[in-house]
Amino acid sequence: MTSVPNALTFDLEHWYSATLVRDAVDDPRDRVHESVAIVRHLLDKHEVTATFFVVGQLAREYPDLIEQLADDGHEIGSHGHTHTPLHDLTAVSFRRELAASADAIESATGRRPEGFRAPNFSVGPETEWAFDALLAEGYRYDSSVFPAWTPMYGVPRAAVYPYSVDVTDPFTAKVDGELWEFPAAVFHPRIRMPIAGGFYARLLPVRVIQWGIRLLNRREIPATLYFHPWEFNPAVKVADLPSHNRFITFHGIDRTREKLDQLLNSFEFGSIEDVFGPMDDETQKNNSSSIVD
Ligand SMILES: [Zn+2]
Repeated sequence: MTSVPNALTFDLEHWYSATLVRDAVDDPRDRVHESVAIVRHLLDKHEVTATFFVVGQLAREYPDLIEQLADDGHEIGSHGHTHTPLHDLTAVSFRRELAASADAIESATGRRPEGFRAPNFSVGPETEWAFDALLAEGYRYDSSVFPAWTPMYGVPRAAVYPYSVDVTDPFTAKVDGELWEFPAAVFHPRIRMPIAGGFYARLLPVRVIQWGIRLLNRREIPATLYFHPWEFNPAVKVADLPSHNRFITFHGIDRTREKLDQLLNSFEFGSIEDVFGPMDDETQKNNSSSIVD
């Protein structure tokens, strides 16, 4: 196993593209620089690199910021070009999204992205054509499978550890696919409570997240966590949202920074590229056999 067992990722988008606020915000203030600054400060403090899945349009808008993240040693992946969930795309328009976001990221950093994270974890049985498209566009891995049931997304039968993908059966771990999947972390292979990030990480006590990461790491499964830089910036809270949407979107936002700080103190993290680099068939076989317990 690698010395960097857990993957830390951020989906970098405008805070007002979060699903439940999108329609409620008119004339939003842009918080990209200040939100990313909070996250960078935390990563610098712990000397940790992470993967930033960046929306292509945002990379066009802020090329200097994206270049700076890459220069700091962070991996830049694609979060689509327009932050459109895959349910609203076709295989053809998805390939256009992948190509356009890769072009935008390459313009900013000089390097094409190797990884992809779908808006709203929208890779599931109805959108499994995504894997073919990712391969065709030259991507090396996906990190969009949420192996748990949630009201908004999830594939509860999917593998819970990084696996290579057979595009004809993409949610079952195989040994020799060309594309890899890094699913979001759940508490335990058989207790599929989401702990990976977003609303779940803001809701759960940090001790529960730490417990889950330990349960995975004990089985040599790296935990893949995800956050959004805006989740570290309480300034994005808007008042005029229905209470349910407000709860899901902003609950715990005042404590996210402290929580990630504690997680970075407790475990070793890196970008997916850091975790992925040394991954080989042997590592995956170990993961596959350890999953039984
Ligand atoms: Zn997103």
